[in-house]
Amino acid sequence: MALIEIPNVYDSDMAVSTARRGRFAVIGEPVVAVDLINTVAPPGTPAADDLLSSDRGAEAWWRIEAARVPDGDLPDIQALRRLRSALRNMIEALVEGRPVPQAAVSELNFFMQSAPASTRLRLTGTGLHAETHWHCEYGGNPKLAFIATQAAESLSDPSQVSRLRRCANPACSMIFMAVNPRRSWCAPGVCGNRARVARHHRRAGGF
Ligand SMILES: [Zn+2]
Repeated sequence: MALIEIPNVYDSDMAVSTARRGRFAVIGEPVVAVDLINTVAPPGTPAADDLLSSDRGAEAWWRIEAARVPDGDLPDIQALRRLRSALRNMIEALVEGRPVPQAAVSELNFFMQSAPASTRLRLTGTGLHAETHWHCEYGGNPKLAFIATQAAESLSDPSQVSRLRRCANPACSMIFMAVNPRRSWCAPGVCGNRARVARHHRRAGGF
């Protein structure tokens, strides 16, 4: 897990102060789907808080995730946001103990079926090598299908679901997988520090 700043990913016609601010994203959760849902702030916040509100933002995110997803063309940004919306609805429901919306399940199935995978075995000089081959016959994108498939495997495992947590900072919308059960913050260096500073100010009578 790491908190990274993705600077100046916004459209150049936006206010300079906004463009310079950059966008923080929590990267490196065990499944790419959790990184994906954390590219957007809660509903009602400015579009600038959505990393995927521009092609440049999406490209920056794909560069960071490149080693974790299959090779191939970058998918359409609308399709990426559609997958994110389904994953966000699904994971929010799981975190809050609500029933998962059927529409989100159908969406995830759609993305998985659009580019199914098969395993290919080939002989090497020393033995056998197995590799995953993604099929694009139906026009699907392997990167999206991979993120959906990896999420489905993880979110159908109760031991993995029990690790999903919302950041302990009430002003933060990030969700993470607490591999370490003591983890409370999306990023200790940001939300953890803010909480410590607030506690210090309360004790010191600063508020
Ligand atoms: Zn946080």
